[in-house]
Amino acid sequence: MNTFHEGIQAMVETERDWNPSRPCPEAQVPRWDREFDVCIVGFGSAGGSAAIEAAEAGARVCVFEVASGAGGTSAMAGGDIYLGGGGGTPAQNENGFQDDTEDFFRYMMMAGGADADEARVRAYADGALGHYEWLRKIGVPYRTTYIPGKTMMPGTGDCLILSGNEFAWPYSDHAKPCPRGHLPEATGETGGFVLMDAIARRAKEIGVESSFDTKVRALIQSEDGRICGLIAVQNGETIYVRANGGVLLCAGGFVLNREMLEQYAPQVNHLSDDALSGGYDDGSGIQMGMGAGGQAIHMDELFTTFTFYPPESNVKGILVNEQGQRFINEDAYPGRVAHHCVRQLGSKIHLLVDEAIYTPPTELSRWELAAVGETWEEVEEELGFVSGTLVETIERFNAYASKGEDPLFHKSPDWLKPLIEPPFAAIAVTVGESFLPYFTLGGLRVTIDGEVLDGTGEAISGLYAAGRTACGLPRSAEDYSSGMSLGDCTFFGRRAGLHAATKAAG
Ligand SMILES: Cc1cc2nc3c(=O)[nH]c(=O)nc-3n(C[C@H](O)[C@H](O)[C@H](O)COP(=O)(O)OP(=O)(O)OC[C@H]3O[C@@H](n4cnc5c(N)ncnc54)[C@H](O)[C@@H]3O)c2cc1C
Repeated sequence: MNTFHEGIQAMVETERDWNPSRPCPEAQVPRWDREFDVCIVGFGSAGGSAAIEAAEAGARVCVFEVASGAGGTSAMAGGDIYLGGGGGTPAQNENGFQDDTEDFFRYMMMAGGADADEARVRAYADGALGHYEWLRKIGVPYRTTYIPGKTMMPGTGDCLILSGNEFAWPYSDHAKPCPRGHLPEATGETGGFVLMDAIARRAKEIGVESSFDTKVRALIQSEDGRICGLIAVQNGETIYVRANGGVLLCAGGFVLNREMLEQYAPQVNHLSDDALSGGYDDGSGIQMGMGAGGQAIHMDELFTTFTFYPPESNVKGILVNEQGQRFINEDAYPGRVAHHCVRQLGSKIHLLVDEAIYTPPTELSRWELAAVGETWEEVEEELGFVSGTLVETIERFNAYASKGEDPLFHKSPDWLKPLIEPPFAAIAVTVGESFLPYFTLGGLRVTIDGEVLDGTGEAISGLYAAGRTACGLPRSAEDYSSGMSLGDCTFFGRRAGLHAATKAAG
């Protein structure tokens, strides 16, 4: 065999071993370029929080990040973190809210959906107040101010917002409502950047090493099945890195991997192309975990939301499907409302409003004024609905709303208003055309300490995952509340980092 042929063969072999879906056997590692106690893939909020905790526990830690700096999708986010319990955070207390841990727990169990992980929710409910203190300690600035009402990302630097379904049915029947979204003090929509800036600074201060412009391509597995390192490409060069305590996959979700989306969450094909991502959610972290035998769960949970407010007056309108029927209490969190919009028969949803609450649709929403009339009969006809369907819905709604009731969907009286002031309008929210941004919630099945579990429920030695690479607290798109993802990333990222560091020490 000539040298050229051998060279090509070696390249082919190496490429094969780099496949994220297939770990490289340790026996095939030609050399160890670097060695750490804990190696972390991805410098977003999960990876950064894990790194801090692992380094503070005495581990030698390196974070490998494909981008040229820390941040990931976390830095693009609003920075809202879901916190409370233990009597309340300073922002809750200052604004008259006492948040009992059991209410927080019950709400989080509902927000986790049918498969909420009780042990994980319990750990979070008991630890959220301490986590708020940790965030402050590492330098995330928080005011104690509150913005009442329905708001998304106010960008004012104020802290407390209502960021979920707490005051909406059926959640309000099961847990005493309380606002729990906590935003860092930041100008404009830069809360995620402020959060990541604090995390990255703290990590650097305590000696966490970072390897930027470095794409992790595959895991390395020893003969006994333990994950003992990773293969990465940095500036075109392949490096083999040994991890004594373990490898933590914190590489985000798979919202930018079309093939994975179509395989696991094909409902994406009904939506317009509005993936929410910092640019690297290619699913490589999940693929590496699955390749090592990890089980992925809830991969079909695609969190979808829409710009229902501001203005909050929209919440007083009603949403109907193509059959002219209501299908949800419109005062629920927009993610829940959007989830139900996407699941109706037909792609056209209409928001019905009267003169008192009409606001022209924003350019961002990609909604359209579809019909206007002096009577609801005119609107119904203009929309081409089966005669009587829309009018019946409106008449029933108005009759109950005038008494402050909504026996069908239990919208809170605060948001009930009969739609009786002409002219009347129908605004089209078209699934597939309107702005319905989304990101993935499914990922690797992990213990509350981030250990990746295989199909039999056994932990894979040396392998951890956190953030959107794992399936954590948020696992139901229908029940999600804003702040649950970053809460999960930072809280359970910390636990995974600590566990891996302890393993390395032991
Ligand atoms: C506009 C917007 C607003 C949002 N607002 C909120 C909010 O207010 N509250 C909330 O809870 N959630 C919010 N979210 C969702 C939340 O931001 C994400 O779910 C969360 O940031 C995910 O964090 P992570 O650490 O798992 O991933 P990321 O922050 O994306 O970090 C993963 C990192 O891994 C790197 N990486 C990926 N693959 C590799 C590889 N193979 N090798 C090396 N590096 C790799 C990526 O470059 C990235 O830096 C928002 C999302 C968006 C887009």
